[in-house]
Parts: sequence; C-alpha cells; structure tokens
Amino acid sequence: MASQPHIHCPRCQWEPRIDSRWYCAPGEPGSGCGTRWHTFWTAGCCPGCGHFWEMTQCFSCKQSSPHQSWYHYPSGDDEAQRRQEALETAR
Ligand SMILES: [Zn+2]
Ligand SMILES: [Zn+2]
Repeated sequence: MASQPHIHCPRCQWEPRIDSRWYCAPGEPGSGCGTRWHTFWTAGCCPGCGHFWEMTQCFSCKQSSPHQSWYHYPSGDDEAQRRQEALETAR
C-alpha cells in the first residue's frame, strides 16, 4: 500500500484543487513560456519548456515556497526516499 504525500501550502495549509492551474511566468532563469498547467502533476516541471520550478506560489496566501516543501509525509517515514518516489511517480 503506497502512501501518497499530502500536498498543501507550507505557510497556510491551502490545498491545490484539481482544477488549479499555474502559469509559467518569466520569474526564474529559463522559465516564461506562458504554459498553464497543474504543477503538482509534474512535480514542478513545466510541460511547455521543461523548466523545473524551484518555487511554487500559493493561490491563497500568495506566497512562494520551495516546491518540495509542499509535500508532507507522515512523521517517522524516510522523507528523502518518499520524496524521490513522488518525483518518479509524477513523470
Ligand atoms: Zn514553461
Ligand atoms: Zn498558502
């Protein structure tokens, strides 16, 4: 039984909706192709230009946080291992 990480904003606990869409804006080096997509389906990778977003913006508190900090795992688990699995599953 694979347990999925819980995804929510590390600052305000807002959870992305199934129809939430992020915009590839020119905010990081190499980004800015204008694609709209659900960033947690691709582990932060823009499907338009292949840019991996370091930071992910919350639509509730409007703050950007490191993409990995949105994934929350049950305590006691090996976070690094599960983090890697989450990335591979998303590809
Ligand atoms: Zn892009
Ligand atoms: Zn937030």
